[in-house]
Amino acid sequence: MPLRHGRPYLAIPGPSVMPDRVLQAMQQPAPNIYHGSLVDMVDGMIPDLKAVARTSGNVAIYIANGHGAWEAALANTCGQGDRILVLATGSFGHGWADMARRMGVEVEVLEFGKRAPVDVAQVEERLRADTAHTFKAVLTVQVDTSTSVRNDVAGIRQAIDAAKHPALYMVDCIASLGCDEFLMDAWGVDVMVAGCQKGLMTPPGLGFVYFNEKAAEVRGAMTQVSNYWDWVPRAAPKEFYQYFGGTAPTHHLFGLREALNMLVHEEGVTAVWARHATLAQTIWAALEVWGQDGPMEMNIADPANRAHAVTAVRIGAPHGTALRDWLTQTAGVTLGIGLGMAESDDTAWHGFFRIGHMGHVNAHMVMGVLGTMEAGLIALGIPHGKGALEAAAHVIAQG
Ligand SMILES: *Cc1c(COP(=O)(O)O)cnc(C)c1O
Repeated sequence: MPLRHGRPYLAIPGPSVMPDRVLQAMQQPAPNIYHGSLVDMVDGMIPDLKAVARTSGNVAIYIANGHGAWEAALANTCGQGDRILVLATGSFGHGWADMARRMGVEVEVLEFGKRAPVDVAQVEERLRADTAHTFKAVLTVQVDTSTSVRNDVAGIRQAIDAAKHPALYMVDCIASLGCDEFLMDAWGVDVMVAGCQKGLMTPPGLGFVYFNEKAAEVRGAMTQVSNYWDWVPRAAPKEFYQYFGGTAPTHHLFGLREALNMLVHEEGVTAVWARHATLAQTIWAALEVWGQDGPMEMNIADPANRAHAVTAVRIGAPHGTALRDWLTQTAGVTLGIGLGMAESDDTAWHGFFRIGHMGHVNAHMVMGVLGTMEAGLIALGIPHGKGALEAAAHVIAQG
């Protein structure tokens, strides 16, 4: 019997659940884009965007999704014929690598598979072997949303330093900013890319590129950077329109302002990370128990290497798709599809799913997802261990 007629819950890894306050903040007439409150509001958002990333560096805003932020970061740092090293732990590392190739950049990929984080020792070894310092940048993803692995961003920086390699260190935090702890300056990240529709709880459409002085110098030495992607005027605009290379994305900005109020000024970034950590552990506790007697298994075995924003699950075909469909149709919860685990025309594709737990998510929402998943497992006759909800409740109870 369909029991979905209430508030739907999109529990996928982006776009994430948007707070009503963010949506309501967008309900207003077109503002004056020449001067006044919009201009002041945007000036005031820059320090908050930096606070979320724990940086005193620069941030450029783009009217773009994460793919646009990827291209922006590359356009300012790497040109035709430059070489980069990409550390891949899932689909998104490869996606960024492909984009670089299309821009004429020579790409070498260090592949760590779909179930493990970047091995920092291998990174150090590869960089030591690059005695001529041919790699201009090392790129990686903090949280690869397809595998739900979380890489050791600080550890990779240590490997680069141990190899005494001068490459820029560029990190994709699109899935993790505002979910998993990230300390741009303390961890020595030179360029970081993010989007607004995951941890930042705003409708898709804004991309961010953060960069430090070292990256600014690399940008300065570029012979050519396309006008639209150039981060220089966006990060230090003389006129308001330069923030955005044209008309401001006014209503997205209203939404983001409200989201930053909630994250930075009300809950606090450290508390936001702690909430995501506990909610992730709640989900893992249930998955662990279900997996004790049945086909369910978390993609990343070691909790230390798991993202706090998304969890990828293996359950075997056709259970993954069956469970997702049951939850959408019967319970009003939509789980994420498995990404990059099998070809979409292969029956194995139906053996995976992901739970998004990023952004505006709290204890009752997570317990609701888990409770309806348990109902789906029962309804579909998928074998599973008993006591998963109690295990999850214990994590919530302990805080
Ligand atoms: C979502 C995501 C992207 C792509 O962002 P889009 O907004 O879909 O273009 C890139 N990298 C990571 C890690 C992501 O999670």
